[in-house]
Amino acid sequence: MSDAVLDRMIGSYMATEQPTYSFGWQGGEPTLMGLDFFRKVIDLQKKHGRKGAVVANGLQTNATLINEDLASHLGNYKFLLGVSLDGPEHIHNHYRITVDGKGSHGRVVRAINRLQRHRVEYNILTLVSTANVNSPAEIYRYLVDRGEHYHQYIPCVEFDEQGQPLPYTITGEQWGEFLWGVFSEWIKEDALRVSIRHFDSILTLVVDGYANVCSLDTNCCQYFVVEHNGDIYPCDFFVRKDLSLGNIMSSSWEEILDSTIYREFGKMKSQWNEQCRNCSFLKYCAGDCQKQRYYGSEDPRTLSWLCDGWKSFYERSLSEFQRLAQKVKQLRSRQPPVTAPVPVPPELPGRNDPCYCGSGRKYKRCHGR
Ligand code: SF4
Ligand code: SF4
Repeated sequence: MSDAVLDRMIGSYMATEQPTYSFGWQGGEPTLMGLDFFRKVIDLQKKHGRKGAVVANGLQTNATLINEDLASHLGNYKFLLGVSLDGPEHIHNHYRITVDGKGSHGRVVRAINRLQRHRVEYNILTLVSTANVNSPAEIYRYLVDRGEHYHQYIPCVEFDEQGQPLPYTITGEQWGEFLWGVFSEWIKEDALRVSIRHFDSILTLVVDGYANVCSLDTNCCQYFVVEHNGDIYPCDFFVRKDLSLGNIMSSSWEEILDSTIYREFGKMKSQWNEQCRNCSFLKYCAGDCQKQRYYGSEDPRTLSWLCDGWKSFYERSLSEFQRLAQKVKQLRSRQPPVTAPVPVPPELPGRNDPCYCGSGRKYKRCHGR
């Protein structure tokens, strides 16, 4: 990304009115841009941010290039990282190898230790592929035993041009068994101390009645992707010519927000398959992410590739989520009511820390939203 595109992207976004200015840095591998790039990012956010503006930077990385200097910078500016770790060494190294054919597990773990030393907050992102889908309990226990308390499990679902699943793609049935395997470990005694993104989101839906991740929502107008050349798209899974919304150097955010392509793309999320319409889990699944519905067809009404898995998981887990929701409500009711606006402390908490207002929710899900 050129300096001009970076400056324009940050400047034009920070000229809009937002409670929090959220930037998510993704590649490929964003750390290939190097420390100077991320220094520039902060300089520009300082240059364009108005007094009191709250900025949240997220970065998804395989962590192999995170050295002391980069970790220190990310810690100083409270970046929230998503670090890819697919399980213990023998599992992680199945697909995650470096160009010289060596497994990357050791490098990732050393980078995580570095991040911890520099107090960088991070979540673990575990890609669930054919290499690890049969090991949910082993992966979960490995992460918890390492002290990792923020997990995100991502189903690996990719197809070739003929719509055939690639070798690492898991089936719906496998996904359902994997989720259930993790859930069975988590629910024993970790439910209120280990955060699993998808489980947290279901709980939020049951307790508070809103979707806090796009896959559970009914509309895909959620965020924008700005490519290295300034081209803008509605979602990182849909960087397609026919979904181009403009270019940051020539389009305003108002034009992009109003774009028919963007609005129509958003609405396609709730153009469900007939089976979804009659499905008792529609409220919790919302027909799944559109990405899982495009295989061998361009029709958003195609049933999600993972449908069987979602069904079997919700059938087995929903009553437990409802029980957990009651517990969360009881805990909340014991907290004193908030009667006056809570002053913003001079030092904001980390995004995963409890919110300063005392709600019991994480900062990123409360005043940091
Ligand atoms: S397509 Fe999937 S990832 Fe993209 S905005 Fe929709 S739900 Fe989110
Ligand atoms: S579980 Fe299957 S049928 Fe039900 S809403 Fe999800 S994708 Fe649709």
